Amino acid sequence: MTLFDEAPDAPEPDDDQSWDQVRHRATRCRACPLWQPATQTVFGEGPVPAQVMLVGEQPGDQEDKAGRPFVGPAGEILDRALADLDVDRGALYVTNAVKHFKFEPRGKRRIHQTPNAGEVQACHPWITAELALVRPRLVVVMGATAARSLLGSKFRVTKQHGVAVPSLHAEVVTATIHPSAVLRVPPAVREQTYDGMVADLRASFALVS
Ligand code: SF4
Repeated sequence: MTLFDEAPDAPEPDDDQSWDQVRHRATRCRACPLWQPATQTVFGEGPVPAQVMLVGEQPGDQEDKAGRPFVGPAGEILDRALADLDVDRGALYVTNAVKHFKFEPRGKRRIHQTPNAGEVQACHPWITAELALVRPRLVVVMGATAARSLLGSKFRVTKQHGVAVPSLHAEVVTATIHPSAVLRVPPAVREQTYDGMVADLRASFALVS
């Protein structure tokens, strides 16, 4: 399977390409069906290189329209967490394991659908290329889809969150829930869920500070 409709070569870590070049190539990716109904490829953003990379699942409705990661409701949760931790989001590289928005149309709304294993696999070369370019010391995997992409299908965020896990992707790799999970739980446990995510992020940042 090729990543490109025109260019046949997948990005490799030893490719001598700039981040801008890789990002531009990703705009033309047709390696899985998700590109077709989506508005655009949503690549990562932030400094290159960066000490820390946060990896989420996929763009949501607002990210799809804006072409930027974590600018919707989940992004607001992430921004609140980073503010609580006194971490400047501008110093982090923020991206997703899957670069196109997967959704189901329902009236005027577009309802988020979880990418399947084949779509996660098809998109994996892009996150690999970002890792090679950004060279983070710390990668925080947020949610099950990002974990599937970078840590394998057997990894369980619910059991292995907030601690360093063996990985070749960076000096330190950790996991936590996806910020959108905070919005999905019942209101009675929402703050507790948020606090758990913040604790995981705090523990993760402490491992490289
Ligand atoms: S989701 Fe990833 S693999 Fe699929 S078309 Fe988009 S960029 Fe390519």
